[in-house]
Amino acid sequence: MVPDNRYDVAIIGAGIVGLTSAYHIKKNNPDVNIVVIDKAPTYAQGNTARSAAGFRDMFSSDMNFNLSNSTIGFYRHVQEDLGFDMGMQFVGYLFLTSNDDPRLQVLQKVAQRSKVRTIDADSLSRYDFLKTKIDDETKSLMNLKDIDIGILGENCGTIEPELVVDFYYNSALRMGVKFLFNTHVKEFHLEPVDPMDYPGEPFLWQKKKLRKLETNNGDIEADIFIACTDVWTTGLLDNTGIDSHIRPKKRQVFQISGPNVESVLYGWDQNDDGVLPFTILPSYGVYLRPAPKAKSLWVGVADDYNRDFSFSEEPEAEKEYYENSLAQVVHAYIPTLTYPKVTGMWAGYYAYNTIDGTPYIFRDLNIIVASGTSGSGILKGDSIGRIVEAVYSGKEYAELYNGSKFKASALGIENREVEKEEFII
Ligand SMILES: Cc1cc2nc3c(=O)[nH]c(=O)nc-3n(C[C@H](O)[C@H](O)[C@H](O)COP(=O)(O)OP(=O)(O)OC[C@H]3O[C@@H](n4cnc5c(N)ncnc54)[C@H](O)[C@@H]3O)c2cc1C
Repeated sequence: MVPDNRYDVAIIGAGIVGLTSAYHIKKNNPDVNIVVIDKAPTYAQGNTARSAAGFRDMFSSDMNFNLSNSTIGFYRHVQEDLGFDMGMQFVGYLFLTSNDDPRLQVLQKVAQRSKVRTIDADSLSRYDFLKTKIDDETKSLMNLKDIDIGILGENCGTIEPELVVDFYYNSALRMGVKFLFNTHVKEFHLEPVDPMDYPGEPFLWQKKKLRKLETNNGDIEADIFIACTDVWTTGLLDNTGIDSHIRPKKRQVFQISGPNVESVLYGWDQNDDGVLPFTILPSYGVYLRPAPKAKSLWVGVADDYNRDFSFSEEPEAEKEYYENSLAQVVHAYIPTLTYPKVTGMWAGYYAYNTIDGTPYIFRDLNIIVASGTSGSGILKGDSIGRIVEAVYSGKEYAELYNGSKFKASALGIENREVEKEEFII
């Protein structure tokens, strides 16, 4: 009889990446005995719960386009064909930019493969709330750019991550995947494949593997371990000498509400929902994300300089960062949003691949690592799960939902085939 702490596959992390991985592995290998372990009391309590919940297939790299385009297609299929609400609203992603912005060229490349519409300055100036020409003093003080053009991605919008993870969790559960919550995995410890029961093993010359996970609820044994642990991956792996290749960057979201916010939120007429698209201002990548259920906008940015790589279990949003940095930029382009009420704020981390801004999926010994989502793990979640499945099954290619074949080693370390991503938002 197989002991009840023994599995074929142990997935650590029940965020979007762990859930899509469990779903696709079980779907393709029904006999495989899988456990998903998380230290939290339930699934998706990590960074999946803290995202700005936008989706887009507007990426500079072909690969990120493919990962996101396929995932959006699958989520849409679940929502429209299977009738399982994912909270997807195709409100669009609006990149507002100036003629001399180097990102414009990249956006023009993006337009060749994504469903994109160009909105010229005249059409943009119809929107009273938007200031397209910034006065010279503000421009030079704050290093701002004018708005000359808008590039609107139409296969983009907002989603509800809690609904997306419900779909994967419930489907995995139905297929027989086991979940262990409140179960904290300590560091990985490698052991010899053929132990000799000598103190100090494993020695240099012994073959090694991860045999078991030590947790607060006892040991868990498996043949294959899959670390879907986002920013926690580094700490988990450190002891093994395997590099996770990621660093944490704190990211914050500020919810603003009130009559002025609503006039901007509902002041757009170029999508079916009649709400502002997920809008990226021309300077610094400051974004406004529509949240119509709460009659609010979410404001955020992927800031780099002076945003250190420190990590805390419970990161807090800094209101003064909103007031002194973000609000100033927002106000310059949308003067009506002068002092809106901040009605909520939260912070999380991007598991940042600082080299190319694209996820890592690789196998070393009997450990598979899926991390480095760099701020877009939800909108690429389904593709990531399919690639983890291909790596687990030893396939050369993963088949993505959009029908494309994706080389399973392409997101690895040894044979990585990735171009640098320019659009980290
Ligand atoms: C502010 C912000 C805005 C974002 N905006 C977007 C967006 O608009 N669109 C988008 O697609 N993405 C966005 N992201 C990124 C997205 O949230 C992440 O890419 C995605 O959630 C990563 O999923 P994950 O499953 O890898 O990680 P997580 O959801 O963090 O899951 C990791 C899990 O591992 C568990 N865990 C860790 N260590 C252990 C351990 N030792 N033992 C047991 N369990 C452990 C954790 O409890 C956690 O549940 C945003 C992120 C932030 C912070």
